[in-house]
Amino acid sequence: MTLRDRVAAAAARLESAGLTREEAARSAEVLARAVLGWSAADWIARSRDPAFGDFGDRLDRLIDRRARHEPVAYITGEREFYGRPFHVTSDVLIPRPETELIVDVALQMPTPPAVVIDVGTGSGCLAVTLALEIPSARVIATDISAAALAVARANAIRLGAAVEFQENDLGGHFTKNVKRPPRSFYDLIVANPPYIDPADRSSLPPDVVDYEPAVALFAGEHGLALIRALIESAPAALADEGTLLIEIGMGQAEAVRAMVERTAGLAFVEIRPDLRGIPRVLVARARSERTHNLAMDCLFCKIITGQIPAGKVYEDARLMAFTDINPQAPMHLLVVPKEHIPTLNDLDAKHDALMGEMLRRAAALAADRGYGASGFRTVFNCNADAGQTVFHLHLHVLGGRRMTWPPG
Ligand code: 5GP
Ligand code: ZN
Repeated sequence: MTLRDRVAAAAARLESAGLTREEAARSAEVLARAVLGWSAADWIARSRDPAFGDFGDRLDRLIDRRARHEPVAYITGEREFYGRPFHVTSDVLIPRPETELIVDVALQMPTPPAVVIDVGTGSGCLAVTLALEIPSARVIATDISAAALAVARANAIRLGAAVEFQENDLGGHFTKNVKRPPRSFYDLIVANPPYIDPADRSSLPPDVVDYEPAVALFAGEHGLALIRALIESAPAALADEGTLLIEIGMGQAEAVRAMVERTAGLAFVEIRPDLRGIPRVLVARARSERTHNLAMDCLFCKIITGQIPAGKVYEDARLMAFTDINPQAPMHLLVVPKEHIPTLNDLDAKHDALMGEMLRRAAALAADRGYGASGFRTVFNCNADAGQTVFHLHLHVLGGRRMTWPPG
């Protein structure tokens, strides 16, 4: 009997134990190669050799385990992730191909992250892969399970990755860890948290539910509890413009997007689909009020940069003036600094000359329009209570009808 015949018989046994034909054939071949210590190429070249020694008995012992739905990765103790072999035990989730998408997204970041944290690292597949793919990064990995950390540490050593490990709770990492790094520390947070609703337990295959660690599979709030904890703690932990990548479950995209959108300091970017088209990886970015994106958020910055048209009447290196879109008088101009200063409250001494230029420019523009000696009025509205609606400092210049006092 050839090796291949033995494996075909083993596959038939697995099929009668309830595996699909495809899965049975794949499992039998992988387990046979584990017994032989052969690569896929070895198998193609030599599978017609006669079965030898105790091959049949050793294969049968592994097939017995697979017939009880134990995952192949736990039987062989290994699963490939991003092209590298990872040691796995029943203390860790088996790395899944869809989780590789987190690595792809991380490698597409315009600036490589200097400090990365993998929260709930399990086998260490994400932390180790990122450490190897981005050698300049400092990579930290945490898990609540000491047993999982031991597996992750072994993988880092085996694959030669420099990763710092911390035993820590998932959502509480940023607040409970006494040795925690300073705020605004991480350029990249990645996580593949548990996200399955415990109510869906009965619909999961026995391979998963009977063998993989429940702590790595299930989370409360319909699977969203730990995703929410991560989203809520991310703004304080991320550096300016830092990125948050979280793997999510099928059907969770809308709820997760809404969570990000109501979290101050975090901007929703996208949810990337996996190879099957299932929305899979949340991409969010730290949005600091200090570093708000002028060109994106400010109406007058857009006018200044020409993204929105306006009736420009004056421009120099530091100032611009244009007509108000909703004039309150025959002459209604707005004089604005090119620098984005939100309100009068944001002025400091370095703006003194600029303010003088704005006031003198207002007088010159009014004079040009015939309102110099006859009279005009300037108004700075400061903040919402005083009627400021555009938060880019601007001086209203009004003229052309009988002025009343106080203005308004
Ligand atoms: P605030 O209410 O903040 O004191 O003044 C903002 C002024 O900007 C208002 O008078 C408003 O009419 C004017 N404004 C708002 N949007 C635009 C625009 O797109 N173009 C121009 N030229 N003026 C605008
Ligand atoms: Zn602005």
